[in-house]
Amino acid sequence: MSSASALDNSIVYLRGVGEKRAKLFEKLGVKTVRDLIYHLPRRYVDLSAPVSIAEAVLDMPNVVEVTVVSKERPAMIRKGMTIYKVLVTDGSDDMTVTIFNSSYVYDMLRVGEEYILFGKITGNFTRREMSSPEIRLKSKADIIEPVYPLTAGLTQNMMRICMKSALAKMQPKDVEFLPQDIVDSASVLSEAEALKLIHFPETPNDVTEARRRLAFGELLTLRLGMLSLREFNRKSTTFAMKKADMEPFYRALPFKLTGAQSRAISECMADMCKSIPMNRLILGDVGSGKTAVAAACIYFAAKNGAQSVLMAPTEILASQHYASLKGFLEPLGIKIALLKGSMKKKEKTEAYAGIASGETEVIVGTHAVIQEGVEYRRLGLVITDEQHRFGVEQRTALAKKGENPHRLVMSATPIPRTLALMIYGELDISVLDELPAGRKQIKTYAVTGKLRARACGYVREKIDEGGQAYIVCPAVEEGEDVFNVTDYAKELEKGEFKGYRIGVLHGRLPAAKKDEVMAKFKNGELDILVCTTVVEVGVDVPNASVMMVENADRFGLSQLHQLRGRVGRGERESCCILITDSASEETRKRLRVLSSTSSGFDISEADLEIRGPGDFFGSAQHGLPPVKIADLAADRELIALAQDIADNITDTGRITLPGCEPLRKRVEALFDSGVRMN
Ligand code: ADP
Ligand code: MG
Repeated sequence: MSSASALDNSIVYLRGVGEKRAKLFEKLGVKTVRDLIYHLPRRYVDLSAPVSIAEAVLDMPNVVEVTVVSKERPAMIRKGMTIYKVLVTDGSDDMTVTIFNSSYVYDMLRVGEEYILFGKITGNFTRREMSSPEIRLKSKADIIEPVYPLTAGLTQNMMRICMKSALAKMQPKDVEFLPQDIVDSASVLSEAEALKLIHFPETPNDVTEARRRLAFGELLTLRLGMLSLREFNRKSTTFAMKKADMEPFYRALPFKLTGAQSRAISECMADMCKSIPMNRLILGDVGSGKTAVAAACIYFAAKNGAQSVLMAPTEILASQHYASLKGFLEPLGIKIALLKGSMKKKEKTEAYAGIASGETEVIVGTHAVIQEGVEYRRLGLVITDEQHRFGVEQRTALAKKGENPHRLVMSATPIPRTLALMIYGELDISVLDELPAGRKQIKTYAVTGKLRARACGYVREKIDEGGQAYIVCPAVEEGEDVFNVTDYAKELEKGEFKGYRIGVLHGRLPAAKKDEVMAKFKNGELDILVCTTVVEVGVDVPNASVMMVENADRFGLSQLHQLRGRVGRGERESCCILITDSASEETRKRLRVLSSTSSGFDISEADLEIRGPGDFFGSAQHGLPPVKIADLAADRELIALAQDIADNITDTGRITLPGCEPLRKRVEALFDSGVRMN
């Protein structure tokens, strides 16, 4: 990677490529030889583990080794469609192979010769068939064949040939970006070996080892990038706060803080007393009391004469944070304002004036609060709730706000720590792993639609006792084949819940309407809220004690856990009923995780294993540079290893030394944001 190498030439010069093909390769993002060798197989045809025809699993891809017994005469079934049938056997059983329209393949097959076939076997126990399998002459087959992403005009075979000539041009030093001792201590292959094996493995283990090296390189680079962002943040200075008397705040609290809350608050205060900005994530389960931690930090900042801003992703959440913070802080004489897009101009102007004069010490709103040219007097603390929804640009935009305020991030989802370190790697983390005492378990049941009537009966009982209910559907309006809030609310109004007061809430309602419905529900003017996942995060109505979720299989486990966290926030015994019509055992098993544990951290572990990290963040939303090879769900051991080594490289300052130049370049290339190391 140091100086120019043959790999940086255009692929036009590769044998067998030329202008025309180069154009096709370009569609795949492949311009140089280096691009080509990093164009990785999507999957492999593994011919290494043949099964007998008799034992093959029907309707699944199988590899079989067969001898051709006989060839039937081609049958033209209509113009332009000829079917070729060949009888094969492997000793255990025989089978008909059907080939459509390819006289070439048909002619190639010789009676008495051995072949390896790969494809789906169909039929029944007496007659088996294989349609259009991959066919290889046994004596010549590569046992594991790469299968590449292609574009029209290119074939797998061309790709393999070009890849071979590209790899022949590769010198180990052209691709290696890790110092040898790191390669050794991580016990990974060299980059060159890994690339050779990822394209042309001889055993399945070769693929595993090659992937491991490439994924390791990727994770290490990512982690180093996060650490460099963190260093970058640490270069800026802010005003260091001083110790303040927190007693009045603690005395005014209606409850005793949990140990985890106290710890988090101390960590934040210590951070804010430094002259580099705090950059901390509060990672906590639903109901772990993140808001109280935020309130304590705001109080601390206010005692230091600094303003604070709290940014929430939706107006509903902003309104609610406003209400709770007001409860905590106003009795202590701290002035707090809510800024909403839907406010009247006059109200806004008044709010702006209060902020500019410094009379208002706390401002709560959606992210508009930092964009609308609001002028702060002495902004010292910026808190963002449910950070991942803001994306990485806003994260950096915030960091660049002139005054370098201290930053606190409250997580939406309790995610496993290793993953948090990857995704929020530039932040310090406080974990709230303890729920306030006396929290009741939310009993959770997963049932099929057959029990819907009974579930509704149970919900009515709860409401009759004075409670309130959420009924959650995946869709807003008719369209997909799932429950939608609009129609379902009408149906329930006439049927199961006749005479009950029902409100409808979803993301497409105008903000003012949403707030109105939410306020009614909160004030007890509605018995039931039929809603989408807009209630997922943070909404707090202590009197709501039962939730029913339709099409529960449509949601991720963590999301369901967030949802059920909307109940069980008050004195009432609470319960969550997950309804699914999915017959799959997998689904039941997945939903049962929720009945058996109430720890958001455990649930996110399970979710991560089942569905991958995309689910927490809506894949593109986590704002990370794309990870192509590593699998954030499956490569846990590798993530931990990469983290350790990256931390060591950073702590020792080694990243700036000459041996680490290629690695440093890769890290810098990761962020276009202009963040530079050292
Ligand atoms: P989350 O972490 O989900 O944002 P909240 O901050 O909304 O949790 O807190 C959930 C509820 O628990 C709120 O009603 C809050 O007042 C209450 N609460 C927070 N901390 C404690 C505590 N230490 N003891 C009792 N109740 C608490
Ligand atoms: Mg919250």
